[in-house]
Amino acid sequence: MFVTRFAPSPTGRLHRGHAFSALTAFEAARRQGGRFILRIEDIDRTRCRPEFEAGILEDLAWLGLSWENPVRRQSDHMDDYHRALQSLIDRGLAYRCFRTRKEIAQAMASAPHGPEPIWIGAPLPATEEAERLARGEAFAWRLSLGAARKALGGFDHLAVLEQGIAYPARPDLAGDIVLARKDVGVAYHLAVVVDDALQGVTQVIRGEDLKDVTHIQRLLQALLDLPAPDYSHHRLLTDADGRRFAKRDRAETLADLRDRGISAETLRREMGFD
Ligand code: GLU
Repeated sequence: MFVTRFAPSPTGRLHRGHAFSALTAFEAARRQGGRFILRIEDIDRTRCRPEFEAGILEDLAWLGLSWENPVRRQSDHMDDYHRALQSLIDRGLAYRCFRTRKEIAQAMASAPHGPEPIWIGAPLPATEEAERLARGEAFAWRLSLGAARKALGGFDHLAVLEQGIAYPARPDLAGDIVLARKDVGVAYHLAVVVDDALQGVTQVIRGEDLKDVTHIQRLLQALLDLPAPDYSHHRLLTDADGRRFAKRDRAETLADLRDRGISAETLRREMGFD
């Protein structure tokens, strides 16, 4: 059974770029006689707001989408992510990182052999770690790429499926990613792979801005013994000036378009959906 999803974060209202992504996944499910799931990715409680979540449901319904209920909201399922994290910790695949983002950027920039494109860290010596923990210092959990490579006997046999074609996975290009943030106790990649597996997602359909992260997500699936879905990354919609629609640029929202009297049919047609 073809199962796909749209997984927005309620950190703002949806714009045309989101509409395109949601419609691409929804229409693919419809063509395949498959299922379409909506998932609310709200682990970052500092940036997510209930009114944005309500806005997402309203905008998607206006666009003509329907989805299965209940909708999975990540903040309701922190235990699932903690369990997955614990299994990585138990197998020595994760370590505590007390550094700030700034310290990591500085360390990468001033590496002895020139700036490093990725971050590879290491656990602290046990006594220093114990001292910092005793002082109550905050830490993130990071994946140890080195330990992961050892656990899997290398990454050579690891493949990403993209529209039925297998490509070599390159998790080594991502470095020691954060599995659990200091502030919210879990991080995007871990929550996404756990949910995609728990929800039986067979096809991840999303924008090509997320193409690179597929590699590290594939590694997490392998380490957690989760099924590997097929991926498809669609082009990103751009405005008349060729710029991507983005929340940070205050792109016109679907609610704004609606207020201007633009109909969902017009918008759908403009994006190539009938
Ligand atoms: N929540 C992510 C976002 O809004 C999407 C995650 C995904 O599709 O894998 O960008």
